[in-house]
Amino acid sequence: MKLQEADAKSLLVAQGLPVPPWEVAHSVAEARSATERFLAGGADKVVIKAQVLIGGRGKAGGVKLAGSPDEAEQVAGAILGMDIKGMTVRKVLVGPAADIVKEFYLAAVLDRAERGILLMGSAEGGVEIEQVAAATPEAIVRLHAHPLLGLQDFAAREMAFAMGLGAHLKAAVAIAKGLVTTMRAYDADLVEINPLAIIRETAADGATQERLVCLDAKITLDDSALARHPGLEDLRDPDEEAPEDKEAREAGLTFIKLDGTIGCMVNGAGLAMTTMDLVKRAGGEPANFLDIGGGARAEKVAAAMRLILADPKVNAILVNIFGGITRGDEVARGLIEARAQQTREVPMVVRIVGTNAAEAAPLLLEARFETAASLDEAAAKAVAASKRATAEATGAIA
Ligand code: GDP
Ligand code: MN
Repeated sequence: MKLQEADAKSLLVAQGLPVPPWEVAHSVAEARSATERFLAGGADKVVIKAQVLIGGRGKAGGVKLAGSPDEAEQVAGAILGMDIKGMTVRKVLVGPAADIVKEFYLAAVLDRAERGILLMGSAEGGVEIEQVAAATPEAIVRLHAHPLLGLQDFAAREMAFAMGLGAHLKAAVAIAKGLVTTMRAYDADLVEINPLAIIRETAADGATQERLVCLDAKITLDDSALARHPGLEDLRDPDEEAPEDKEAREAGLTFIKLDGTIGCMVNGAGLAMTTMDLVKRAGGEPANFLDIGGGARAEKVAAAMRLILADPKVNAILVNIFGGITRGDEVARGLIEARAQQTREVPMVVRIVGTNAAEAAPLLLEARFETAASLDEAAAKAVAASKRATAEATGAIA
């Protein structure tokens, strides 16, 4: 689950990290009043930032400065409703504009291969790290947190020096350690600060000082660990979730969209992977990974079918059910129900074995589903059906 910048910043603040203040505005009027408060508080400008779950907002025109309440209204009006890479902006973050001296990159990521937390830092902040990694990989400093001791001071200091943060050593060490504690506190997969920035602040008496702060924040939480953190689920932004992800989550299905043409409906993650392998071996490309789980009832099967058919690339479906606690006849009923509601006709090959397969067979026969006795046969039939459909669609001779 990805968090909006403002929510990610709240978690950072809760972990004691330095983040400039902000307010979230859902309308032009709210953006105006937030601006009035920040200007009254001494800021000479505000920054207004689109809150969408996508990077590169700055380049897309979703991050702008405003020097007066009128200008803030105008800027917020332009950003609210803006489309950024397919996401509609419904709210903005408003905060005092930072006077940036230099931008850095610092992130903590889950390193699955090392089974630990990896910190990545770079003096090339503000740009996307993938670009830095491609153009100047040596500009990225890497460091693993100790699995038991966390990020140790000496290691964090070395990293800060290597990133060119020697002048802000204390703050840099505290922030690096804070990212690791944030990862652990919320079971995050990623905590990314880009830019981590040295900003110049001017006091009322005109004296200036520099400070290291988290100017942007991106946090991705491990969905499987959400149950351990009551309250974090509330931060899920339903507007931002892809419709198919939402339907899958609500129906209790594990669904991952892929690029192929053959929709796969399977029970069990292992069997789903095997089914995808066999589709590929038979010369086809799976359109998705879909695990309907154990004991799926007819409604769940129907929801799974809707998800598969929502993908316009799908031109054949392979249903592979190994009945353990899942009952074959329940699945067959679900398929019949799903087909009755279906908005488009797609060839389907069904293989059901195990619990209540004998009860499923006559139902499938009566409903005239194409069936297969073995998984190899089912995969071959589905691939052949998909190839026929592709050929018909492109006008080629099958
Ligand atoms: P992203 O493009 O979605 O990653 O959004 P960011 O929050 O990282 O903002 C993009 C860029 O806008 C930053 O790298 C900064 O250069 C600039 N920016 C963001 N906030 C401020 C600010 O308060 N003041 C100034 N001057 N620039 C800012
Ligand atoms: Mn950024």
